[in-house]
Amino acid sequence: MFGRLNSVQISRIRNFSALVQSKALVNGNWIDSSNNDTFDVTNPVNGKKIGSVPNMTVQDAQNAINAAKQAYESKEWRSLTAKDRSNLLKKWHKLIEQHSQQIAEIMTAESGKPINESKGEVLYGNSFVEWFAEEARRIYGEIVPSPVANREIIVMKQPIGVAALITPWNFPLAMITRKAGAALAAGCTVVIKPAEDTPLTALAVAKLAEDAGIPKGVINVVTTNKAAPIGDLFCKSPDVRGISFTGSTQVGKLLFRNAADGIKRVCLELGGNAPFIVFDSANVEKAVDGAMSSKFRNCGQTCVSANRFFVQAGIYDKFVALLKQRVEALKIGDGQSSDIQIGPLINKMQYDKVSGFVEDARSKKAQIVVGGTGLPELGALFYAPTVVTDVPPTAQLYTEEVFGPVVSIIKFKDEAEALQKANDTNRGLAGYFFSENLQQVFRVAKRLEVGMVGVNEGLISAAEAPFGGVKESGVGREGSHHGIDDYVDIKYICMGNLKYD
Ligand code: ADP
Repeated sequence: MFGRLNSVQISRIRNFSALVQSKALVNGNWIDSSNNDTFDVTNPVNGKKIGSVPNMTVQDAQNAINAAKQAYESKEWRSLTAKDRSNLLKKWHKLIEQHSQQIAEIMTAESGKPINESKGEVLYGNSFVEWFAEEARRIYGEIVPSPVANREIIVMKQPIGVAALITPWNFPLAMITRKAGAALAAGCTVVIKPAEDTPLTALAVAKLAEDAGIPKGVINVVTTNKAAPIGDLFCKSPDVRGISFTGSTQVGKLLFRNAADGIKRVCLELGGNAPFIVFDSANVEKAVDGAMSSKFRNCGQTCVSANRFFVQAGIYDKFVALLKQRVEALKIGDGQSSDIQIGPLINKMQYDKVSGFVEDARSKKAQIVVGGTGLPELGALFYAPTVVTDVPPTAQLYTEEVFGPVVSIIKFKDEAEALQKANDTNRGLAGYFFSENLQQVFRVAKRLEVGMVGVNEGLISAAEAPFGGVKESGVGREGSHHGIDDYVDIKYICMGNLKYD
């Protein structure tokens, strides 16, 4: 059954260049785009080309859907037990683990993420493969007591079919594994459309999935820099039964609307506007540690990054002073060196957004405590880690997600004011607060309008925990046992006319 995998292959380590692919994966074939078009992948540190990948057409994406459908219906996939699927995922997990250094290097080269963070992401991303390998065997149904004699009510969970997975560039591996891991565990097949900035990591892990013996057509990867028509095809194709998307709220809304016609399962992980509240009762050192890890991981380019820092008047000066010291000490540069903590922003659009937001705040009388400029001496996409205080509610730094290394601080007087301001947004992904007061901890945790709360903690993601938002931050949950739900249908089977006597 797992004919292509043996103990020799599983321990064979591919070198860096053997993992960097220049073709897309459809139906087990590594192919060019049908019109031979390609696009370059560049290193955001210096703009240099590091590879090129096929610019797939809508027809190519349709072929990938067809392959996924065929694979879904094939004996090679359908006949597998949950334990077989679990074993395949475990083999994939093992291969990713064995290639963690190479994958981290690819990720750093295409995303600019510091190498230590890339290694951390490989561990984190791969933990979803391991988790869903385990969960595959626990997709339980139910037998429910029937109200009618001689009947049994049986409830089972079945895979939805083909799932389309659209992922962003900020976590080039983890956003793929937490979708594909769940989908494959459930018995679905997938078409992955990775972000145009970071397709190489996606293709590398697809190569390892192939090495692990995951049958052809079960994982297809379509690279393109023209996402809109392919997203549209995913929404319209009757053969795609679910769409899982992580990215901007704007694109998420579009996909949600377009998928409505086919009543598709949609899982959306969209932008946040995370509040980070530091109460007078907080341990300030702990709060500063939390602020640094929540804000500056991946140069502030994560959807759970703290976006608005509300700091209570009594500890305000101390918090700002300590934070300033820590921000000034950050090491910025090419993330290939292991001492670098802050890399460049991913692309010019992000750079312009971050610098534009800071200029907007400056023009509205906010104070720049540190940073507030680009760092052209390092490269065109580097922006200095920045702390801005007295950010008014009209500033874009307050109303929108900056997605960059900028801490926006707002002073508040009491808990009610902090909660009102924190919840005064149509987003609700993550929220953080620091308090050593037990009563306050429970009150605030319950009242924050978000899907995830970090209490005295700035880094909260784990494969075991449900990741997702409320309000316009999304629908559905990824990771945890809930992460399977988007990939299964519930089927009720009524067993009637049973003869028990
Ligand atoms: P970001 O601002 O993080 O780049 P996007 O939402 O633009 O967020 O991108 C996230 C993912 O969505 C990427 O893979 C991108 O190519 C894809 N994408 C962008 N526009 C569309 C669209 N109209 N339909 C489907 N996918 C899209």
